[in-house]
Amino acid sequence: MSSASYNPFEVAQQQFDKVADMIGLDGSTRELLRQPLREYHFLIPVRMDDGSVKVFKGFRVQHNDARGPAKGGIRFHPEETIDTVRALAMWMTWKTAVVDIPLGGGKGGVVCDPRTLSEGEQERLCRGYVRQLAKNVGPFTDVPAPDVMTNSKHMLWMLDEYETIVGGRYPGFITGKPVGMGGSLGRTEATGYGVVYVLREALKRLGIDIKNTTASFQGYGNVSRYAVELYQKLGGKVIAISRSSFTLRKKDGFDEKTLAAIVDEKGELDKEKARDYGCEVLPREAWLEQDVDILVPAAIENQITGENVHKISNQVKVIVEGANGPTTPDADAVIEKRGIFMIPDFLANAGGVTCSYFEQIQSNMNYYWDKDEVLTKLDYKMTSAFNAVYELSQERKLYMRDAAYVIAIKRVADAVKRRGWV
Ligand code: GLU
Repeated sequence: MSSASYNPFEVAQQQFDKVADMIGLDGSTRELLRQPLREYHFLIPVRMDDGSVKVFKGFRVQHNDARGPAKGGIRFHPEETIDTVRALAMWMTWKTAVVDIPLGGGKGGVVCDPRTLSEGEQERLCRGYVRQLAKNVGPFTDVPAPDVMTNSKHMLWMLDEYETIVGGRYPGFITGKPVGMGGSLGRTEATGYGVVYVLREALKRLGIDIKNTTASFQGYGNVSRYAVELYQKLGGKVIAISRSSFTLRKKDGFDEKTLAAIVDEKGELDKEKARDYGCEVLPREAWLEQDVDILVPAAIENQITGENVHKISNQVKVIVEGANGPTTPDADAVIEKRGIFMIPDFLANAGGVTCSYFEQIQSNMNYYWDKDEVLTKLDYKMTSAFNAVYELSQERKLYMRDAAYVIAIKRVADAVKRRGWV
């Protein structure tokens, strides 16, 4: 099967069904939770710099809001599909539940490539997105955030448009805002740092000293970059990092200075500069084939598949999913059988939304914590969630992904029952 033939929504439903069977979830709760509660499809006409109008397609999916307002990012991606957004919205519901924050799950997307749009075009696209959706989102219904190829600048344009429409200041409408404009310190680092907090806990349980480990990372975006930073700070050695067209390898490890020197002005890995710094340039999939202890897929969905899973080295002990949905179910079954310790996406990368929750709290109080306070609280939340999942997996002899699902699904099922929905 090629990666294009894995439909992320079917993957998400398959994962859900497996655990729903396992815990004997009743029929109506199952029907309610295996699909989104609501979804919006709309067109966004945008005036381009050359005077023409381009029409973009946008989506927002609210998978479940029984535990609190729907919460989740908005992705800008040329290959965005409604089924990808549905899957990501569903994973957000499990993510907020597994870390036990009072929020639901949602996700948005626009079919576009922001790398080909000017600043002005991006701003008009953000404002257009909010204009189509303003009645159906808000601080108490559905709270967006950054995701693939969106950042704090986009969030502030969206907030400004929302506040213009509604009239007033509503910092709780969106998270991932710039620091000083309602944003939280540590939000940028939060997802990547969270990945490493749970990795650190996993290594402790496996009796492995992080200082003796090596790792390979897929992607060098917002998640991976900060995961690399903290992993190295804790003494780990990064041997390989990839981006969409190649993998860079440095067998003696990438140090901070090299990393700073081999990126272009946009912060993306530059293979020519990397060669000058003694890095090998390998094919894009080489990140997966390295003899390392830890693999961190931190790019996008459907990257470890039935086709390439056998390329994972026997040395690999832990896989931490920084991305959402990077492993397809057939590959997952192989990883489980091989006994590789898996830290599943909606647990591993929950640091972002957890910090978004802290951002909401700070915005509501209109009082902002220092960075240490944010990161200490984040570490505590991630560590507690990891421990609960790990303990259940030990007690019930469950694969970590299934254990995380058991906890998350039970919490959401409990919320829909207590509200009297089923
Ligand atoms: N987009 C991030 C995620 O996939 C963060 C979502 C949020 O902060 O609401 O978890």
